[in-house]
Amino acid sequence: MTHISATSFDTLPLNPATLDNLQQLGYLAMTPIQQASLPTALAGKDLIAQAQTGSGKTAAFGLALLERLNPRRFAVQALVLCPTRELADQVAVEVRRLARALDNIKVVTLCGGVALRGQRASLENGAHIVVGTPGRVMDHLARGYLVLDALGTLVLDEADRMLDMGFLDDIVTVTKQCPPERQTLLFSATYPEGIDKLAKQFMRSPEQITVADNTEKSLIEQRFYEVTRPTRFDVVAKLLNHFRPISTLAFCNTKQQCKDLVTYLQQQGFSALALYGELEQRERDQVLAQFANRSASVLVATDVASRGIDIKELSAVINVDITPDPEVHVHRIGRTGRAGETGLAFSLAAMYEMGAVGKIEKYQKQPSSWHKLDELTPTGFGPLLPPMVTLQLLGGRKEKIRPGDVLGALTADAGFSREQIGKIVVTEFTTFVAVQRDIAKEAMQKLNAGKVKGKSVRVRLI
Ligand code: AMP
Repeated sequence: MTHISATSFDTLPLNPATLDNLQQLGYLAMTPIQQASLPTALAGKDLIAQAQTGSGKTAAFGLALLERLNPRRFAVQALVLCPTRELADQVAVEVRRLARALDNIKVVTLCGGVALRGQRASLENGAHIVVGTPGRVMDHLARGYLVLDALGTLVLDEADRMLDMGFLDDIVTVTKQCPPERQTLLFSATYPEGIDKLAKQFMRSPEQITVADNTEKSLIEQRFYEVTRPTRFDVVAKLLNHFRPISTLAFCNTKQQCKDLVTYLQQQGFSALALYGELEQRERDQVLAQFANRSASVLVATDVASRGIDIKELSAVINVDITPDPEVHVHRIGRTGRAGETGLAFSLAAMYEMGAVGKIEKYQKQPSSWHKLDELTPTGFGPLLPPMVTLQLLGGRKEKIRPGDVLGALTADAGFSREQIGKIVVTEFTTFVAVQRDIAKEAMQKLNAGKVKGKSVRVRLI
């Protein structure tokens, strides 16, 4: 007899092919949010779940919506609304992974910033699942490109953030076009008042689920440093040289501060990139790809720009400026120390920011731990270099390039090992491949000389 523990997916009424697939994905035990929500969600009931990014919430709703789906019915049967394009992309990737053992399930993302026409064509080709941002989904509904008559599951992911971003009216418009007998699953990190209103208006006696996340906070080590306005950037550099984190997310309160800090860090020899509001989508994609694949050490961002990005293995967060909003502070530092890893959160405060520090202490109900600047000594290892380098291939989804094609060109054809290759991200027109720093030049030359998908490609280092 095999022993089935309470946290095993085998305890759930899931398709055997899906159970197999979960094993292959390495999902051996349910995460707490999955354990708490899947029985209810799989029973077809409405659900309000409190869950953070990184908790496994995507699989919590993804498995439920897949189980209700009829692959042979060519109609949109599930809709996931997300606050940002990055999150929608991540959700789509995860849902496709979860669905890969099932018959040809089509997942289409509908987000702003790209032409409607291509999205319309994808819908016409048949979509079982749509993942998108409320505004763009509403556009497609209004034009009649998207029809929700066959919808079985509606998911509101990161509902609090969607409300923060002013999507309430759009959510209401979209929800009103879903069949009333559908299942609604709402996920949110916090419960502002608006969530309750949404639930009352659109959900049928939802079950509420909260999972204590006491592990998260205790794994973040917070250190405060007193700085002056002119020394602030220098302290950032000292922190990086002393702690040598592989990936650091640095928050500034303004776009200008982001730009200035990146310029400063680059002058000091760091590999730093800026992320702020007005970047074009293409630039934003590139910046995020380079940071997530560990070929840039520091990402300097504003709070708004950093929304929805989920970067695993973030070793440190630096609050270059103290935010006046303590809730934002907690959001910022919560980006590190995920998945059982210890994260470092540094906060730089000048005299005029001590009031904000006081608010943070009160909010977190803990005093700040102050450290001296002269503890920050360089380690003598030379400049902090990211472990990977990004190669950019001119050619992406439009050319039908898939990650496996690029991996094949680098391993089978060029003779590199799987371990020397990092993340491969294919966007519409271009592909980003991370490779270990020491093979970057050679990998570029070999790719330029060889073929991907039977065709020559142009590759450059970025
Ligand atoms: P999420 O909170 O949905 O963004 O998921 C965070 C990460 O955890 C994703 O990379 C998932 O692939 C992974 N994950 C989700 N559920 C499990 C599980 N039961 N076991 C292992 N990894 C998981």
